[in-house]
Amino acid sequence: MISEKMQSKGGAMIGSQVDYDCIVMGAGPAGGTAAALIAQAGHRTLLVEREKMPRFHVGESLMPEVYWTLDRLGVLEEVRSKGKFTQKNGVQFVTDKGKESQPFYFQDHDSRESSLTWHVERAEFDMILFENARRKGADCVDQTRVTSIKFNEEGPHEVEVLDAAGQQRKIRAKVVVDATGQQSLIASKLQIKEMSPTLKHAAIWGYFENAERNDMGGDKPEVTCILHTRDKKAWYWYIPLSNGAVSVGLVSKNDYLLKGRGTPKETFFEEIENCEGVKRRMKKARLQGDTVHVAKEFSYTTRRHAGDGWVLTGDAYSFIDPVYSSGVFLALKSGELAADAINEGFQKGDLSEKQLGSWTEDYESGVSLFRKLVEAFYTDEFSFGEFMKQYPHYKSNLTDLLIGRVYGKEGPGKIFDDLDPWLQHSRNGTLEEYTRTLPAPMMKSM
Ligand SMILES: Cc1cc2nc3c(=O)[nH]c(=O)nc-3n(C[C@H](O)[C@H](O)[C@H](O)COP(=O)(O)OP(=O)(O)OC[C@H]3O[C@@H](n4cnc5c(N)ncnc54)[C@H](O)[C@@H]3O)c2cc1C
Repeated sequence: MISEKMQSKGGAMIGSQVDYDCIVMGAGPAGGTAAALIAQAGHRTLLVEREKMPRFHVGESLMPEVYWTLDRLGVLEEVRSKGKFTQKNGVQFVTDKGKESQPFYFQDHDSRESSLTWHVERAEFDMILFENARRKGADCVDQTRVTSIKFNEEGPHEVEVLDAAGQQRKIRAKVVVDATGQQSLIASKLQIKEMSPTLKHAAIWGYFENAERNDMGGDKPEVTCILHTRDKKAWYWYIPLSNGAVSVGLVSKNDYLLKGRGTPKETFFEEIENCEGVKRRMKKARLQGDTVHVAKEFSYTTRRHAGDGWVLTGDAYSFIDPVYSSGVFLALKSGELAADAINEGFQKGDLSEKQLGSWTEDYESGVSLFRKLVEAFYTDEFSFGEFMKQYPHYKSNLTDLLIGRVYGKEGPGKIFDDLDPWLQHSRNGTLEEYTRTLPAPMMKSM
């Protein structure tokens, strides 16, 4: 709620209006990051969240590259200890035939501690970022929903919020950061959101007790598992969490999962029958709360990413697909890059579209690599195992992509020099012919 505290600590009250340098809408990873860094730079910042914090959210499996933003925010130690989150060491893929790939262990590729990451309960993780933004000087309010935004060419924008007590307020801010996740408030208002024509997917997931962990034995216990169902019609994520629970989610085409079938819960369990790997792990599992969650048609992008005095971050900017767990990493990264552009803009007295969106081209270059890898995953003929057999020298590039190392390093994109034509030939049914044309050393490794 917008409280006395906010009114005294935060921006000046002007009648029923409140003035801020920056309002950040939405307290997920993108909003928590942006608000902390903007407030830390000395700008009056309001972070406003519609839910009561801590709030539930899907998206538990992190990518190792979150390390650098968490480090910069000063919350690494807290994430490491307070949250008691499960360590994530790598990723394993299981084919529709039940063939389990060698896990991609992040530390085999890079032994630094930054290669380890976590499976997190998002309520706790996002709360750490919310509290951190408060410590860095932002006014942080929950149970307060943004109901409208009015852009003013000449001066601060006006954002209306409604708190839990039913009180409506106008906030004026020089910069508005949209971090409202899939709500994408600004993109919806400006009609610049573009749904993916090919990734019309849905997800059905739940949290299970007594499900087996992804214990690989030895000193490398937990990985995220991605398992295809028979005939590759769908896939499951399998993410062991810290409290003994396992997050298990089913993803496929929207129509396949949600049209002309039973309830989502029935579909979820029906598909387990098509997936030996999940079935085996879930023999004794019990669904917490006896409920599943559903999300649909979640892949989209936006045609514009910033304007004069506003900028999009995280899922409010775009969302690809959850298969590689890139969402939280991209939310943290975009929150950080947007904050840097805003802080620089305040310093230069330039809050133009060009300044606030100055980071987006670089950002897109990384996102596009994930997007291409997602496309490959959904190509029927693609299998990580097969591709790696044929091109073993790309293991390091592929692991870089799975780690999220798509910025500041040349290289991971090189994989597509060969993956693109390989996929093209698989689709045309000429893969065998194509592989005969490959240089000898590659053929030897097949
Ligand atoms: C099925 C599925 C599985 C996923 N699995 C993973 C995974 O394993 N790993 C991973 O990294 N990512 C995963 N993701 C993606 C991940 O959940 C998101 O990318 C991430 O949460 C984006 O963070 P954000 O800060 O942009 O938005 P969010 O975390 O969604 O936060 C946005 C916040 O804005 C608030 N809000 C919305 N509207 C308003 C309003 N009007 N006023 C005030 N506040 C508002 C919301 O309540 C919310 O708290 C998954 C996504 C889906 C759909």
